[in-house]
Amino acid sequence: MSASILLLPGDGIGPEVMVEAERMLVAVESRFGLGLEWHRAAIGGAAFEAHGSPLPADTLEKARNSTALLLGAVGGPQWDQLPREQRPERGLLALRKELGLFANLRPVRVLPGLEGASALREERVRGLDLLIVRELIGGIYFSQPRGERRVDGEREAYNTMRYSEAEIRRIAHLAFVAAAERSGRLCSVDKANVLEVSALWRECVSAVAADYPTVQLSHMYVDNAAMQLALAPLQFDVLLSANLFGDILSDLAGAITGSIGLLPSASLDQQGHGLYEPCHGAAPDIAGQGVANPMAMLLSVAMLLRHSLAAPAAAAAVEAAVHRSLEDGLCTPDLGGSATTAEVGEAAVVALSAS
Ligand code: NAD
Repeated sequence: MSASILLLPGDGIGPEVMVEAERMLVAVESRFGLGLEWHRAAIGGAAFEAHGSPLPADTLEKARNSTALLLGAVGGPQWDQLPREQRPERGLLALRKELGLFANLRPVRVLPGLEGASALREERVRGLDLLIVRELIGGIYFSQPRGERRVDGEREAYNTMRYSEAEIRRIAHLAFVAAAERSGRLCSVDKANVLEVSALWRECVSAVAADYPTVQLSHMYVDNAAMQLALAPLQFDVLLSANLFGDILSDLAGAITGSIGLLPSASLDQQGHGLYEPCHGAAPDIAGQGVANPMAMLLSVAMLLRHSLAAPAAAAAVEAAVHRSLEDGLCTPDLGGSATTAEVGEAAVVALSAS
């Protein structure tokens, strides 16, 4: 087998955590001989500075020709005043849309020993292991009409939340498959008591359930889901939601793990091609200090190996290596430690090579 991975370091701490991802890829290749090769391309603010666009045509072409993509993060205050289409975040949104990456998977785990870092009481989060499946290229972030206009002498702005049956069905199938491979419990989150688009969402998800008799489906309104995540997150296994609700719930779930620097994610198309990235942003407040937590990035490498390269043993080894360095008490300041990005990355590579 051989696999071509496109590295997209991006902005802020993106390039810093990407260095550790690349070192891990070297270690994985030497240990498992998967035939991995990787290339780089520009995205986000760095791409705007170098090429005048947050998603240059060359980057998009390389992305289309790669087996999988690994992204650091994009964004920074220096680009906030640019026109919307030139902002770093538009590059990432356009990349997801162009590649048809409709499914965002965010595992949320409270790792043993890190219960104390959670925003919730330890007994509420011990052993937490849930998966958020978020629709990523539809809904209110993409639907038309959107814009701003003048009405009766003042400005008003508007967006549209729209989903077709086909869009709902394809993300629902993916969530049911994930639930069937886990504990068999799927909770679909919507606002069907108020929104027509959510009523259709609920109807379509319920219809797809007929294909998955081993999965137990429940529905929850998004406001209650947010409350339940904060009160009793252990009740959930797989959560399915539309783009906007999933964006908010996954950050809330992230707070439960203790640091956003621990959360990986995968964005997949129907063939299993994927973009893998930490859930965090470019963190301009700590960029350049060498203290960013690289674990979310390393765990994103593990997801890449599992979902796009069908290499579960290598994926499990990377996860175990990250957990091992945590057990050894090595962590960056976001988790209360004093280790640097490079020290944590190095410890994980050593743990992988020794396993
Ligand atoms: P952020 O995730 O960058 O930072 C939020 C807080 O978490 C900051 O205090 C930061 O220091 C901390 N943090 C984030 N990652 C960390 C890590 N690995 N280790 C230690 N601490 C970490 O979110 P923000 O401040 O809202 O956004 C900053 C920029 O990033 C903005 O331009 C935003 O648009 C962009 N952004 C990009 C992505 C992405 O690339 N996928 C996601 C979110 C935000």
